[in-house]
Formats: sequence, C-alpha cells, structure tokens
Amino acid sequence: MSALTARTRVFTILGNPVEHSLSPVIQNAAFQEAQVDGVYVALRCDAEQMVGFMSGLGRSGGAGNVTLPHKEKAASVLDKPLEAVRRTGACNTFWGESGKLCGDNTDVEGFRRAQRHFLGGAATGYRVLLLGAGGAARAALVSLIDDEVQDVLILNRTVERARAVARRIGGDRVRVAESHSDVDDGEFDLVVNTTRLGLHSDDELPFDLERLSRADAVMDLVYGPSATAFVAASKRLGIPAVDGGEMLVHQGAAAFERWWGEEAPIDAMRQALEAARSSQAGA
Ligand code: NAP
Repeated sequence: MSALTARTRVFTILGNPVEHSLSPVIQNAAFQEAQVDGVYVALRCDAEQMVGFMSGLGRSGGAGNVTLPHKEKAASVLDKPLEAVRRTGACNTFWGESGKLCGDNTDVEGFRRAQRHFLGGAATGYRVLLLGAGGAARAALVSLIDDEVQDVLILNRTVERARAVARRIGGDRVRVAESHSDVDDGEFDLVVNTTRLGLHSDDELPFDLERLSRADAVMDLVYGPSATAFVAASKRLGIPAVDGGEMLVHQGAAAFERWWGEEAPIDAMRQALEAARSSQAGA
C-alpha cells in the first residue's frame, strides 16, 4: 500500500457483524494493484450510525459498501439510487458526486459476471430454480430476468416472501413453489442457492438435488473458507457447482469501477480472496 496521506480516500464496509468480511482484503489488494490512493476498513455499526457514516463519508470524498443487515435502509437514504437499487430495493455500494449521495447494488452485476464466468455465457432461455427470497435472491433474479431466462421457480421457507419478490421483480416468467414437493421431478438448467444455509458447518442443505429429474449446474451464493456443503453435494452427483467466492470478487470489482472510474484488477482481487480463504481454512 502506498503511504497514507491527507489525500488518501477512505472506504469502509458498514454492517453488523462485519468482522468476518473479506471485502477489506479484496479491495486493499485492488487499490494496491491499480495504484490508486485509498484505504479500506470495516466498521461495525447499527442502522442509525450507518446513515451517518454513509452521509459523512460519501460527501467528503470517501465511499464504501453496505452489508447485512443494512442494505435496505441504505437504499432509502440515497439522493441518487442507480437502477439496480430501485429494482431490488437494496444498496451495497455508495459514493458521493457533487454533494449528492449515490448508490448502486453491485450484487446484481456481481451475480451476472459470476454466472457468465461459471457457465460461459448469459442465462438466456434457462429454466432456473431459485432457492431463497432475501436480498441476494432479488439481485440474482434481476440479472436472470435481464438475461431473458425461460422461467424461474422460487422456493423459499416463507412462501409469502417469495410471492413478494416475484411481484416486485418477476413478471410472468417467475413462479413460486408452495412447498418442496412442487419442485419434485423438475428439470432445471441452473439451481441457485441464495439462502443463508451453508454459512455454518452444522446447517442442513438448502435442497435435496436428488428430488429433481435434472439439474445441469449449481451456483451457491454462500461462501466460506472451503467449498460449501451444497457445492460438495452437487459435485458428488456429478453436477458442476461453484460457491459465492466468484460473485464476491465481481460485486467488489463493480464497486471499484463506480468509485475509481476504471477497470478493476480482477486477478489481484481473486488471488487476495484465495489467499485469505486458504489462511482461514488452515487456522
Ligand atoms: P437475507 O435477506 O437475510 O435472506 C436469507 C434467506 O435465507 C431467506 O430466503 C431465508 O428464508 C433463508 N433462510 C434463512 N435461514 C433459513 C433456514 N434455517 N431454512 C431455510 N431458509 C432459511 O440474506 P441475503 O442478503 O439474501 O444473503 C443470503 C446469503 O447470500 C448469505 O449467505 C450471504 O452471505 C450470501 N450473499 C453472497 C454474496 C456474494 O457476493 N457471494 C452477495 C450477497 C449475499 P426466509 O425468507 O424464510 O427467512
């Protein structure tokens, strides 16, 4: 990292908890590789404090990210929300422009780029099973709809939440499953897990893939030091699968591009993530 001076821009990730975030590792590696004058730290804060940090930092040359549980609150305090924020109702990236607080939801772009990286192209014409209906599900759904998938079936523990997501984003390509049995014997080009299941080692799997007639690929948005149990279970069935590491790098790359107006050094970000994960796995 270059020497910190009075001109160094300050970036932060705001959330609670935030201690385990890998964004500082990824962004500081990117700043160093791109030789931009910034420093990125994590700040644990409640919703009220977050609003103050966003406003103060954004209007004084700084910027940052927002993570759980504040993404929806962050969306509500922006002066200039970009389209992805308006469509998902969530903001994970903010910065200032001419005294205005601007925000994007780069989880949408992060999912889009990670999905293309994994499957080699857009999801056009795909039949998709989407597990979960929280913030990550909304980001994935916007990307899938923009890609003109054939259809998306949402399966969520709380059915009403899935209906609300379908109403907000879906249109006629999106259906909601009332229960797991509605999905039995289904055929899908892609299964996407956006639930939190897999964050903890004793979590149950988000779905039993053997209930399906066909699943060609699995994306798990959850990530940890090593492959998630859902990714491991998919691979045991011979289904190609990736966890959320690639999406994490790409949402960070899209944020870097908003803040600095130049392409992100994606290889350096990926390498920083892998190094951090290896050291966590060995700890
Ligand atoms: P969220 O808004 O809190 O949504 C959580 C989802 O998990 C909901 O669908 C919830 O179902 C479901 N869920 C939670 N506990 C469950 C359980 N015991 N059984 C079944 N379903 C359960 O969280 P989020 O922001 O969408 O994040 C979800 C996951 O995506 C997190 O692990 C997060 O780290 C990951 N994520 C990754 C990236 C990335 O870059 N890779 C980006 C964003 C998020 P209910 O509606 O029934 O509560």
